[in-house]
Amino acid sequence: MEMTKKLIRFLEESPTAFHAVVNMANRLKEAGFEELRECERAWNLKEGGKYYVTRNLSSIIAFTVPCRDFRGFQIMASHSDSPSFKLKENPEMNVEKHYVKLNVEKYGGMICAPWFDRPLSVAGRLVVRENGRLMTKLVNVDRDLVMIPNLAIHMNRQVNDGYAYNAQTDMLPLYGGEEAAGTLMDTVAEAAGVKKEDILGHDLFLYNRMKGSIWGAKEEFFSCGRIDDLQCAFSSLEAFLAAENTRSIPVHAVFDNEEVGSGTKQGADSTFLTDVLERINTALGRSRQEYLSAVANSFMISADNAHGVHPNHADKTDPTNRPYVNGGIVLKFNANQKYTTDAVSAAVFKSICEAENVPVQTFANRSDMAGGSTLGNIANAHVSLNTADIGLPQLSMHSPYETAGTKDTEYLIRAAKHFFSSSVATDADGSFWIE
Ligand code: ZN
Repeated sequence: MEMTKKLIRFLEESPTAFHAVVNMANRLKEAGFEELRECERAWNLKEGGKYYVTRNLSSIIAFTVPCRDFRGFQIMASHSDSPSFKLKENPEMNVEKHYVKLNVEKYGGMICAPWFDRPLSVAGRLVVRENGRLMTKLVNVDRDLVMIPNLAIHMNRQVNDGYAYNAQTDMLPLYGGEEAAGTLMDTVAEAAGVKKEDILGHDLFLYNRMKGSIWGAKEEFFSCGRIDDLQCAFSSLEAFLAAENTRSIPVHAVFDNEEVGSGTKQGADSTFLTDVLERINTALGRSRQEYLSAVANSFMISADNAHGVHPNHADKTDPTNRPYVNGGIVLKFNANQKYTTDAVSAAVFKSICEAENVPVQTFANRSDMAGGSTLGNIANAHVSLNTADIGLPQLSMHSPYETAGTKDTEYLIRAAKHFFSSSVATDADGSFWIE
């Protein structure tokens, strides 16, 4: 339960991907990790060193160096972003000189209905002019600021019969009365401690103000925003910090933009991971051959939350692969390889969980349903290695208030710690061992 409370604090303090990454970076710094920068000409890595590097302040990769002669990389990848509404440029809209509302657009594929009638606020990053430079500032307007009011049922009798929400008309949040006109960026600037006229760029998102909650007859469940996928990112970091590895390089990687297909400079479809792995290899004075051999002796866990069986819609889950909330880690399968798991990576992942007595469940989409995608197969196109797609079981994925189990986070931390402490090795194609 302590770990669930810690996770909820992390979720509440991470209203956007920028905040999640900066919180993880601070945690690493406190644990003695040294920050590397991609713009540095050379990384001077030492045996026994601990490092992290960020890209766009919304993706982060951390690793430790057990020895120069390392065998491979033990990578766990998750994502920092969640579906939300992004403020457009010139977001203020006047309504008959009586209201000010905000023009927003969808970021990712969210469930729209639960965004209505609850206090929301605005957070993200600003780029401001400061002493002749352009500097990034994170901002969180940490108070109930906006709300998307529902239309009364008397004016929309069909709302309970499958209403199609229009993102341009239905989803715009109310910000204030007539006196609020022209003040949004003042409010944001004040929260960031900068001057409005110095703000040259912004990436601002709505977030749900509702606090996390632990609930159920025996406190089986917890709910909060952004459980997908910060529950996995949090578990990965906890495990990474607790692990010790003598043979291989453990790599904690969290990418932005999974919810919009990962195709950005900081997404899983970017060069970020390969750039970092290659620089580690080069900085330790190793050859290209040694790098490719290390990749062959590597393993990746792609960790992104999974759908548990829904209590009201049990038939939506595959007949023979039925993960339940609090039933343990979910190993995901898909014949078309939207999930990377295959016989090899399933066997490796199951062995790791078995060694820690962690329960493993399995997920596959019903054969008549398309299902979602994730980042494992995308990252594999850049650095190709054996990968298992896993996640923790949850309900109401992509709602601004999602639900998961209070037992599962610890299962993932235990398995991931074992993973980060081991080395998945090979001596022939098709022959593997874990030590
Ligand atoms: Zn996800």
